[in-house]
Amino acid sequence: MRYVLPSFEIDNKGRVLCKKHSEYSFFKLQHKSYYQERRMENLLTCKTCIHYEQNDCYFPREEINKIEFDREKRNRFKCVLCGNRIDRMLTIIQKLYYEEKFNVKIPLICCICYETLKNGTFLEFFGKKFFISIMFDLFSIFFLFSEPFPFNVVNFALYITFMFSLKVLLKKVLHLNIFLPDLIRGKKYYDKYFNQNEKLT
Ligand SMILES: [Zn+2]
Repeated sequence: MRYVLPSFEIDNKGRVLCKKHSEYSFFKLQHKSYYQERRMENLLTCKTCIHYEQNDCYFPREEINKIEFDREKRNRFKCVLCGNRIDRMLTIIQKLYYEEKFNVKIPLICCICYETLKNGTFLEFFGKKFFISIMFDLFSIFFLFSEPFPFNVVNFALYITFMFSLKVLLKKVLHLNIFLPDLIRGKKYYDKYFNQNEKLT
């Protein structure tokens, strides 16, 4: 059976679009209203495409389901710069396609980081998150040593769990990842591949 080869482009908001998606003409509509934008966000997945329905895409339906499972449930696809989960599946599909078809590895970058790279504010954004992260940890340590409750192992474990959960919540709800190892890893990646000044020195 002949299958449809996907073809990708990136719009001005950094979203990966598939030119073969059955809703492509809607994606390309100019001056979309707020509700049309919301609708587009919901449609921007292989699962709303006719080729997924007909199972005639280069990516078989089962593979698309597996990719979505890995993305949503197993957090397998993360942004190389901030460590957040990639929300838009087409970003992942594009990466996998280029890797399989052309042996070209492209990094997974979330829309927020893409935007900061585009307008040159990545370091500023990183600095803010780094500051919040350090403050968060310092506050935790001071709070713990101020002995607000009788110090014992159970209280200590409960407090650490609470602070950790708070960080996870910030990451999931606000997409604000303040886990220090993720931040440092992302900054190293940025310095290696995107920071031109760093490269010249
Ligand atoms: Zn990111």
